[in-house]
Amino acid sequence: MHTETLALAPPAPGHHPTLTVHRFGPPGGRPKVTIQAALHADEVPGLLVAQQLRRQLQALEDAGQLLGEVQLVPYANPLGLAQHPLGQHQGRFDLGDGLNFNRFHPDLAAAAGDLLQGQLGADAQANVRLIRAALRQAARQLHSLGTAQDLKHKLVGLAIDSDIVLDLHCDSQAVMHLYALTPHAEQASALGALLGAQAVLLATESGDSPFDEACSRPWLLLAERFAPLPVPPACFSVTVELRGEADTSHALAQQDAAAIIAFLRHQGAVAGPAAALPRALCQPTPLAGSEPLTAPCAGVIVFHREPGDRIAAGEAVADVVDVDTGEIHTLRAQSAGLLYARIATRWATPGKRLCKIAGTTLARTGKLLSS
Ligand SMILES: [Zn+2]
Repeated sequence: MHTETLALAPPAPGHHPTLTVHRFGPPGGRPKVTIQAALHADEVPGLLVAQQLRRQLQALEDAGQLLGEVQLVPYANPLGLAQHPLGQHQGRFDLGDGLNFNRFHPDLAAAAGDLLQGQLGADAQANVRLIRAALRQAARQLHSLGTAQDLKHKLVGLAIDSDIVLDLHCDSQAVMHLYALTPHAEQASALGALLGAQAVLLATESGDSPFDEACSRPWLLLAERFAPLPVPPACFSVTVELRGEADTSHALAQQDAAAIIAFLRHQGAVAGPAAALPRALCQPTPLAGSEPLTAPCAGVIVFHREPGDRIAAGEAVADVVDVDTGEIHTLRAQSAGLLYARIATRWATPGKRLCKIAGTTLARTGKLLSS
């Protein structure tokens, strides 16, 4: 293991935040894998999984079994780790500008495309090499205004030429679930089967450039721009939601890290025969079919159903109790599907998304993720 410390743009005199990267395996080895934990800094199960991965990757490196280079960012958001206004950890939004740490990551497709003008040809693998070099160059040319933007630029710069990117998050109260691009359904299904995911949500664009899509979508955009020349979707990038924020246990972390290593073996980054995939607990479904149930007014939330429950269309999932009138507003699912996540607090504000159901009958448009 080789550890690198990257300096982030200082937010103020006397403050010098840094980003730590552990590297394993042969430098330049393919497939190149980037794994980062807790970009939303208060989503800590990923931090624990990263510690397990560090041990397991070190053992594989010692045994000479790493074929690909693996970069592990054990805490992707040192800024958010230090945000505790009034004693409450706030790791989702930058307190400086209110922006979500997992939105507005740089879209390098246009800049890389300009660098590639006239260079691509009929050889898909040669195109992949040229595109990776152009994406790296475009990342190097990014100009950062502020520490949080510098963090986003550095994270994307690290991951942009990877074959595989795993961004480890969690939801509030949830079962294991994944977000990935639609063209990567097969890899997402394989990873989901190994992790025991109960929902795998696919889209070609979720909106506002989350980190995973900043790495994977340029390939779709460049394929469009340079059609009919062959540009495969050569970066499988996935957001792994490691259940709920309170689901920290050594056993789960060990199990999740082992599943990730099994996936890396399946993808050829780790030597040795890949075991057969376990039976998947779900089929991928469109993110556009994921149904958020929204509070109609302020009030106390009473859930009738838990994460992991199958919901029938029309079924009551939660009540919101109006404390002025005493009225009980019952929220019902429009679509059948699996309840995969719900909020952890029990006070609703008007319009608050209370839970999410992975269905197949809705076709939402616009921004598909919560803010
Ligand atoms: Zn998150």
